Amino acid sequence: MPVLIFLTIMIVVTQLWWLLLYLIFLGWLIWLGVSGWRLVLAAVLVWLAVLGGVALAPDSAFARLIGWSPQGLVSVLLVIALLFGAEALVAALHAHAMPLPDRAPGLVPLSAAAKPAPQPASAQVMQPAELDRYARHIVLRELGGPGQAALRRARVLVVGAGGLGAPVCQYLAAAGVGRITVADDDRVSLSNLQRQVIFRSKDDGQPKAQAARAAMLALNPHIEVTALARRITAEDAALIAEQDLVIDGTDSFTARQAINAACVAAGVPLVAGAIAQWEGQVTVWDPKRGAPCMSCIFPQAPAPGLAPACVEAGVVGPLPGVIGSMMALEAIKIIAGAGEPLRGRMLIFDGLYGENRLMKIARRGDCPVCGSGHFAQG
Ligand SMILES: [Zn+2]
Repeated sequence: MPVLIFLTIMIVVTQLWWLLLYLIFLGWLIWLGVSGWRLVLAAVLVWLAVLGGVALAPDSAFARLIGWSPQGLVSVLLVIALLFGAEALVAALHAHAMPLPDRAPGLVPLSAAAKPAPQPASAQVMQPAELDRYARHIVLRELGGPGQAALRRARVLVVGAGGLGAPVCQYLAAAGVGRITVADDDRVSLSNLQRQVIFRSKDDGQPKAQAARAAMLALNPHIEVTALARRITAEDAALIAEQDLVIDGTDSFTARQAINAACVAAGVPLVAGAIAQWEGQVTVWDPKRGAPCMSCIFPQAPAPGLAPACVEAGVVGPLPGVIGSMMALEAIKIIAGAGEPLRGRMLIFDGLYGENRLMKIARRGDCPVCGSGHFAQG
């Protein structure tokens, strides 16, 4: 801005009205949102073009219009460059200034007027940018400020960043779930992109956990995301016990069994979904709160060939989006204490015929994982 004021004064003093065009040009660039070194570069390049024109053809009509010697133009360029440089230097110093302690008596930090940097979820108070971001949640009667604050405090482990994990990660990040851990030992491949919409073509070959983390932070810088490029096994009991909620989007029975057992042991609710071809299901395993665990309903691995994985049986692209979004919805309800989560109920969605079914499911007293008095029914 000082540069523009300086140029205006110069035009009036020198009566070089063509400088007005230069001024309008700079104003137009600023209006277009050009700033910083790009603005300086554009200003200098155009100035050099004018200078070159005058130097190459000193007797031309153009040079007469400019009406100034190359030396004069160079001096003006230097003055403008100095002004731009000083402005950039002040901005740089401002950005790197050491923040003053909060209780510095009578001092207001210079950076107070600067745009606040995104705060990690661990910061206590919600920033204005967050209030704006979550406005549609905060007006919901069942969520409101307290529900959004609960989401912000929550720790959630998403196991698997595949078809189901992708929409889960996207919606949890967008919803402002404060601390998300995503675990997956796989890498992105081109055949994933038909349904795992968290990834981009450029992510081909990248570890899924890291690519998902980058996508989540790009969507919402106010959250913390930890990427684990490995499988979750029975060894991860301590990690699972730290969570408020675990979301299982894996497609292997053995992995599901291990996650279920660790969640039952830690008393952590487990949101689970599964998909194949055109059909999916979603439920909340939570024996501590009266719902069955996975082993109550599926005590044994299915016979080989009865439950083929997506790679053999195929899966329609939007289906994981539907089921994964339902899983994210269940997660938000459980964390915020809203509505009735799918505890003791399994929702089955048939995409080919557009039908839903809701099945009641119950705990088994003789369940090898949660039975024999692990928890009181309640
Ligand atoms: Zn059980």
